[in-house]
Amino acid sequence: MIKYYDLKKVTESHEPQISQAISRVVGSGWYILGNEVKDFEQQFAQYCGCAHCIGTGNGLDALTIIMLAYKEMGIMQDGDEIIVPANTYIASILSILQAGLKPVLCEPRWESCNIDPDRIGELVTPRTKAIMAVHLYGRCADITSIERIAKKHSLKIIEDSAQAHGATINGRRTGNLGDASGFSFYPGKNLGALGDGGAITTNDKELADTARAIANYGSQKKYVNIYKGLNSRLDEIQAAVLAVKLQRLDEDNERRRNIATRYNTGISNPLVTLPEYNNREEHVFHIYPIFSEQRDLLQQHLHESGIETLIHYPIPPHKQQALAEFNNLEYPITERIHNQELSLPCHPAMSDDEVARVIHAVNSFKA
Ligand SMILES: *Cc1c(COP(=O)(O)O)cnc(C)c1O
Repeated sequence: MIKYYDLKKVTESHEPQISQAISRVVGSGWYILGNEVKDFEQQFAQYCGCAHCIGTGNGLDALTIIMLAYKEMGIMQDGDEIIVPANTYIASILSILQAGLKPVLCEPRWESCNIDPDRIGELVTPRTKAIMAVHLYGRCADITSIERIAKKHSLKIIEDSAQAHGATINGRRTGNLGDASGFSFYPGKNLGALGDGGAITTNDKELADTARAIANYGSQKKYVNIYKGLNSRLDEIQAAVLAVKLQRLDEDNERRRNIATRYNTGISNPLVTLPEYNNREEHVFHIYPIFSEQRDLLQQHLHESGIETLIHYPIPPHKQQALAEFNNLEYPITERIHNQELSLPCHPAMSDDEVARVIHAVNSFKA
C-alpha cells in the first residue's frame, strides 16, 4: 500500500538530528519559553523575511490570537466582519468566531481553489475589518488582487499559511504577504512538529508584542497581567524539532513540486481534472488535488490499486452542524470542490517508483 503520507518515514529521514535535539532539551531542564523557542522564532522569522515570529500552541490559536491582538489594539471590535474563503479548512472560520468576530464566507475560484478576488468587493460592509487569505493546498492566494481590494477599503490582510510554509508569489514568501500570518506545525504540515505547534509572523511591532503577551496569559512581565490572555505557547521540544526540519524545508518542498510536475505531465485521463499551476509562483503542494465527477469511484479504484488517497474536505464548513447559522447559504463552487476533490500522495519521502505507480493507476481508471 502506498500511504497518503508516511510520517514515520519522513521523521526517520531527519534522524539522528531529531533525537539529538530532543535529548538536548531533555537534558537542559528548561521546557517552556527558553532558548530553543527563541532561536526557532528567529530562524523562522528570517526564513519568511519577517521582523517578528511568535510561537503558539497550534495554528488555530495563532490565527485567533492575531485577531484578539487587533481587538486589544482598538483596530477590531466584537462583531466586526472578516472575509474568508468558504472552502477553507474549518479552522480558519473557527478562529474568527473564537475571537468574537463574524466570518463572511466568500466563494473561491474553481481553477485555483483560492478566494475569488472578484467576489470580495461585494461582501465588504462598514464593519469589514480584514480579508483572511488562506493559501489552500500550498498555493498562494492571489495576493496582488487582494492587496488592491484591502487598500481600497482599508482592510487588514491576515494570512492563513497553515498549508503553505515556504510558498512564494512574485518572489515573496508566505508569512510576509499580509499584515500578519498564522502558521500550523501540526505533524502532517509541510513543516511539522512531533505534536501540536504554531506561529504568528508579522512586521508590526505593536501587534507582535500584543500577540506575544496574549499567548502567555496576557502578560509581558511575570505575574503582571495586562490582557485577559490564553495559554498557547510553542514548547521547547517542538521548537528544537522544528529547527532541525526547517533546514530542509526548501529541499522537501522542491521534491513535492517535482512529484507534482510528474503528476501534471504523466496523468492523462478524460475523467480527471488536474490542478492549475504556473511558474510565477512556487506552490508547495501540501496537497496535490485532482478533481473528478466520479471521485468516489476513482478513490475506490485507487484503493484497489494499493494507493491511499484523502478528500480535502468531505463536508464544506457551511454544511457542518457546528456552523448551523450558515447551513441555509449556498456556495456552489465550494460544494463542487468538496464533491470532486481527491488528494493524491505527494510527500518528500515518496520514491520515484511510487509516483509512477500512482500515475499508472489514475490513468487506468475507467467509468
Ligand atoms: C491545519 C490548518 C489550520 C489549523 O492548524 P492546527 O495547528 O491544527 O490548529 C488552520 N488552517 C488551515 C488551512 C489548516 O490546514
